[in-house]
Amino acid sequence: MSDIANRLAEVGASLPQGVTLVAVSKTHPVEAIEEAHAAGQRIFGESRPQELKEKYNTLPKDIEWHMIGHLQTNKIKYIAPFVALIQSVDSDRLTEAIEKEAEKCERVIDILLEIHVAREESKTGWDFEELKAYIDSGAFTRLSHIRVRGVMGIATNTDDEEVVRHDFDTLKECFNALRPHFGDSFDTLSMGMSEDYPLAVAAGSTMVRVGSYIFGARDYSKK
Ligand SMILES: *Cc1c(COP(=O)(O)O)cnc(C)c1O
Repeated sequence: MSDIANRLAEVGASLPQGVTLVAVSKTHPVEAIEEAHAAGQRIFGESRPQELKEKYNTLPKDIEWHMIGHLQTNKIKYIAPFVALIQSVDSDRLTEAIEKEAEKCERVIDILLEIHVAREESKTGWDFEELKAYIDSGAFTRLSHIRVRGVMGIATNTDDEEVVRHDFDTLKECFNALRPHFGDSFDTLSMGMSEDYPLAVAAGSTMVRVGSYIFGARDYSKK
């Protein structure tokens, strides 16, 4: 087996039933994704719309593409026709822009609400109180081309497991608090990356996003 196939098998075996693995392939070449695809992986996460679209065009059409990175409103059009899940929805402006693009494509696009819980200022995501206010305004009932599937979040980047665990618990609480607003299709809690996914799973994650552990370190200088 290739290294990628080995790592996929290892991560897959460590996940309980009901936890979905998103293989985060951003910056990695299509050959790496083909290897993962040959090993049976079908869900891939990318963080740049143009790169995602190019890979979509080149690679097998049974792949489910997730957008996980910060998304600018003027780039939604690159991915709107085919994207399976936009995990990084972090503002009212972006939400409403996705609604418009989805309507143009005559699709309903699944999204996750990205919530800011990390201690770093720089991390993206909605402030939970602002998100609550937006939901309470009835916004989502007007947006018929968007289906809110759940919550996504990124824990603080630290070796202190207590801090990381606390962030994941907070995300789980946000998920539980929002669920009554959206009903049964609100079933996804996306949290956990290469360094921390076992803690995320222990805290109730239903979807982990694992990149470097599967594909190796990323080289941003090549892009
Ligand atoms: C890059 C990225 C990941 C994967 O990170 P690794 O540490 O390589 O596993 C997961 N989630 C988001 C939002 C990312 O941007």
